[in-house]
Amino acid sequence: MATIFSLPIELLLAVSTDLTPASIISLRMTCRSLRDRLEPLIPNGYRVTMNDLLEIETWPEYHPALMRPLAAQYPDSNDYFACSNCLTLKSADAFADNMMKGRRGKFANESTTNKSSRLCITCGIERGVYAPGTKLYHGGAKRIYGFVCETCSGFEEFQNGGSEGTICSGCS
Ligand SMILES: [Zn+2]
Ligand SMILES: [Zn+2]
Repeated sequence: MATIFSLPIELLLAVSTDLTPASIISLRMTCRSLRDRLEPLIPNGYRVTMNDLLEIETWPEYHPALMRPLAAQYPDSNDYFACSNCLTLKSADAFADNMMKGRRGKFANESTTNKSSRLCITCGIERGVYAPGTKLYHGGAKRIYGFVCETCSGFEEFQNGGSEGTICSGCS
């Protein structure tokens, strides 16, 4: 039986040219043979873009929420989202809840979407989006409450679910 591995290289390249960059990138990640054989399709020095990641984050492997009942579709640790600053896919734990829903949700309406500017918490702090003292919920379904330390700008979770000040354990 012919498999993707036994295809002549010309044929493999021919059927792969219509794939999006995101698909080619992830296909190349599956094994060394495909990585080498599909190399001609990736321009020299190509770096992954936010659009590639926004496509990949909607695939079932990165979006298990899709398989759960509607009421349980809030993202959790196994749901991954793209960050526009570090250009990586990170678990829902790494994002403030409001970065993963509405206009920044994975399936936000094309005309109103704002997800291409989505930032993980670390990058949000770095870019000044989350000022020292900011309190926010993150982790989606887990609704973990945390804060940005007023002293070191590190992010820490509230221990008692409370709002007992915004100095982290390392600084107090
Ligand atoms: Zn980031
Ligand atoms: Zn601190």
